Amino acid sequence: MTDRRTELADNLAAVEERIAAACAAVGRERAEVTLIVVTKTYPASDVRILHELGVRQVAENRDQDAAPKAEACADLDLTWHFVGQLQTNKVRSVAQYADFVQSVDRVRLVTALSGAAERTGREIGCLIQVALDAGEGAARGERGGVSPGGIEELAAAVAAAPGLRLGGLMTVAPLAGPYAGRPREAFDRLMEFSSRLRAGHPAANMVSAGMSTDLEEAVAAGATHVRVGTAVLGVRPRLG
Ligand SMILES: *Cc1c(COP(=O)(O)O)cnc(C)c1O
Repeated sequence: MTDRRTELADNLAAVEERIAAACAAVGRERAEVTLIVVTKTYPASDVRILHELGVRQVAENRDQDAAPKAEACADLDLTWHFVGQLQTNKVRSVAQYADFVQSVDRVRLVTALSGAAERTGREIGCLIQVALDAGEGAARGERGGVSPGGIEELAAAVAAAPGLRLGGLMTVAPLAGPYAGRPREAFDRLMEFSSRLRAGHPAANMVSAGMSTDLEEAVAAGATHVRVGTAVLGVRPRLG
């Protein structure tokens, strides 16, 4: 029987190899891309093993899971990213442990995050989640995100909010709409929005895109951060 440490070490090495190869293929330095391991549904013991293996960036998408896990790992030097849809009533909890919230998609959430960051005295990095499957002004898709036309207003709100720092943009490759099955085109589009954003906010240079199945496309497009779960930890058990 292979133990969990060996399994995670092997998976991590394989993902590392994929990122390195994807960088090499387009002439990017490996150091330009940060791997964030998405540990959602997996226990704090896995986070500990990953830390032993050199992982320093982890992501979670549900506060109920993330809060106790972050607390159990509070002795480790980890950067925690929150990547799930976030209700304003969870913001106070998330602000206790999240270094970054990558799923900022409405002004009301910015206001709530700012208040919570001020109360805890921690600065929270914010990425605006862009929904590439939403038409201009369309309702947010079920995976969250603001339509491209709303990026500017949200960026201004984050930039002006005490306790928050505008980090950049995030997206999830759409399952529906014109970009379905075309992650490279989706990520290229996100890069265009990032260029526009950086014209007004030069420090907002994070581009978070790419998951287990499409990290190569994200690296090729120019992503600075990839969020990988399954390829490191295994296929998640279905949530009830
Ligand atoms: C779960 C999740 C990931 C990781 O997905 P995998 O396919 O398991 O690599 C990345 N980003 C977000 C927003 C997620 O919810």
